[in-house]
Amino acid sequence: PKSVRRSVAVQPVPVVTATAPAPINMGSQRAPSPVARVPSPKNVPRSYPQQEILPSNGNYAFAEMIRNYRAQIDYRPLSMFDSVNENRISVCVRKRPLNKKELTKAEVDVITIPSRDITILHQPQTRVDLTKYLDNQKFRFDYSFDEYANNELVYRFTAAPLVKTIFDNGNATCFAYGQTGSGKTHTMGGDFSGKKQNAAMGIYALTARDVFRMLEQPQYRRKDLSVHCAFFEIYGTKTFDLLNEKAELRVLEDKMQKVQVVGLKEEQAMNENDVLELINKGTLVRTAGTTSANANSSRSHAIFQIILRQGKKVWGKFSLIDLAGNERGQDTRECDRDTRKEGANINQSLLALKECIRGMARNSSHVPFRQSKLTMVLRDSFIGEKSRTVMISMISPGISSSDHTLNTLRYADRVKEMGTDGSGEA
Ligand code: ADP
Ligand code: MG
Repeated sequence: PKSVRRSVAVQPVPVVTATAPAPINMGSQRAPSPVARVPSPKNVPRSYPQQEILPSNGNYAFAEMIRNYRAQIDYRPLSMFDSVNENRISVCVRKRPLNKKELTKAEVDVITIPSRDITILHQPQTRVDLTKYLDNQKFRFDYSFDEYANNELVYRFTAAPLVKTIFDNGNATCFAYGQTGSGKTHTMGGDFSGKKQNAAMGIYALTARDVFRMLEQPQYRRKDLSVHCAFFEIYGTKTFDLLNEKAELRVLEDKMQKVQVVGLKEEQAMNENDVLELINKGTLVRTAGTTSANANSSRSHAIFQIILRQGKKVWGKFSLIDLAGNERGQDTRECDRDTRKEGANINQSLLALKECIRGMARNSSHVPFRQSKLTMVLRDSFIGEKSRTVMISMISPGISSSDHTLNTLRYADRVKEMGTDGSGEA
């Protein structure tokens, strides 16, 4: 256990939520509603839900070690009743359930989330004498969402607390980061059933819902604010308007360092339904001409913005970003030159993003936003006392994803590090 990040303090006695948890291997992708987790009258810790793995499984030895590990921990998952932190920068992890394909292959689940802020990756290792052992890597984040958390729960602790930021003349930003297939689009845009997306349950739509609710409050009604949406995509060095038939856009910086996405279409929305229509429209444009939802989208960053305006003036802006898959650029097996270049580009933008958030945590006046198109168009997100950011790092639970998962957790840890100790040096 060489890399316990941050010593883990004794957990405060949390609100314990009971009712028997469903077994991990239930063959369904749908997480049960967290509301069904009724608080127990007594603070009885539950036992961790165990996965059934047969001895014939090639990874049975690892599965047994994980089982023993889980048998000894108190399971106190985050619940709807937990308190919400008011951080300026917050970094979270979300683990998705094993999907059908992984269940069919009887993939071992190597992620344990015992409590609201701890994520453990059981990394399978083999010694030279071929004995197997687990490298249990423990990480602490602001929140850890397990496979039973639905979008509503994730929203409550991530983007929801930032809605008032934009009513306060600030910039709110929410990133979905992670490997392709880890759940970024599911979280941001809503679940797909076949090719159709249930946009109403994604963080884009849940945010819009709360923006319209807050708009109804008397102190904001008086301000005469209007709601507008923009939706665009960054693909390599190019920017495309998803609300305007993928028209190519130019990103320019003026003498005042103000960054403009020239010609970006902004549509006014009168209610939540209008926003849903815009999300669906943009998503269709984004995935048009591809066979799977992931074919193109894993290689581009999608930026959905909810802009509050008072007359023509911007009052506040909420940017919600479905980032390109972080596995690109690490994959040196890609022999196609364009594909490698594309990967390098994504890599650079994700590194720049990390540096910009770290700069923001230090209140630095030198946020390196010019290092990528992505950070350039999001420049305003990283400056100003009123800016708030949340990053949700998505992870796949399966043993075959463990290397990518470790990369994701390490990246999130680096982003978070600056948010807490503020030393600012790499
Ligand atoms: P990404 O956008 O990161 O590439 P997706 O959001 O497309 O990944 O997710 C990949 C698949 O996993 C989709 O079929 C999606 O519905 C499913 N999925 C992702 N997260 C969850 C979750 N939390 N619960 C249930 N299914 C999920
Ligand atoms: Mg996606």
